[in-house]
Amino acid sequence: MTTAISITDLKKTYVNGFEALKGISLEVQQGDFFALLGPNGAGKSTTIGVISTLVKRSSGSVKVFGKNVDTHVYDTKLDLGVVPQEINFNQFEKVQDIVITQAGYYGLPRTLARERAEKYLRKLGLWEKRNDRSRLLSGGMKRRLMIARALAHEPRLLILDEPTAGVDIELRRSMWEFLTEINEGGTTIILTTHYLEEAEQLCRNIAIIDEGLIIENTSMRNLLEELDSQTFILDSPVEIGTVPNFNFKDVSVCKVDNKCIEVTIAAGRNVNEVFAELDRLGIEVSSMRNKTNRLEQLFMSRLNENGLK
Ligand code: ADP
Ligand code: MG
Repeated sequence: MTTAISITDLKKTYVNGFEALKGISLEVQQGDFFALLGPNGAGKSTTIGVISTLVKRSSGSVKVFGKNVDTHVYDTKLDLGVVPQEINFNQFEKVQDIVITQAGYYGLPRTLARERAEKYLRKLGLWEKRNDRSRLLSGGMKRRLMIARALAHEPRLLILDEPTAGVDIELRRSMWEFLTEINEGGTTIILTTHYLEEAEQLCRNIAIIDEGLIIENTSMRNLLEELDSQTFILDSPVEIGTVPNFNFKDVSVCKVDNKCIEVTIAAGRNVNEVFAELDRLGIEVSSMRNKTNRLEQLFMSRLNENGLK
């Protein structure tokens, strides 16, 4: 199996002394669709910046398809396409020219550069806009243009930094389809996201990063199986006395206030049974909601296990 990317003990301390990366090690195999999942400020963009050598790391090493990014500058750049989090093209340049110019940076001859621009602008629904100045594009189109630009030299590894942040659901789905298609065509993809659902939808393998550390590195399937409990907040129309003991070992109940309880239910436990038990105990429920989204819950359980919080 070929390793698309291998990063070892990456550390990044910014000039203000802030340690954005505290030792990140990670391997992604060729052909994978990999998610780097983490909350805002976790260090996702910094990691990508270090991989693409735009951010100077404090220590550690990065290899792309077995080659060190420091010693094989040109080869590793050819293998890598990056879609940054922020729009960073020249807003006054024409859509088509942005892609062609990028291909030029990678040494593609003019005719091939034009072919590639057409291929990817068509695939991403931007061909009609090819002669527009890019500042006239909508937000979603600008993001797609950045993807077309990153693909101009057809890298073996595509890295996308929060490609769908702020993108509406319809467009998000079409972007997911596009990314799945190129992954099936053989391109290795790494994306960062703070949406668990996005990682769940697209990715086979996943690493969770928080506060500059990898706190989980597994397959998406394993991770979802490990999501072992859910917490609900239940409101009662009447005052709840002392909360009696539940008969189930895998359910815990605690009181939030006089008219509200919190119930944590392990995966696999039938929720109907929990309600029947509440009923039996004389607890009336008028409304219920999830305490946290699954992602927050996941972060919290991982952090607790790691003894970090
Ligand atoms: P993410 O992409 O996961 O949201 P980032 O990698 O952008 O997170 O940032 C990680 C942390 O590093 C954040 O706390 C951020 O404020 C900090 N950081 C990022 N860039 C700089 C910088 N140039 N100087 C100082 N701190 C920075
Ligand atoms: Mg970021």
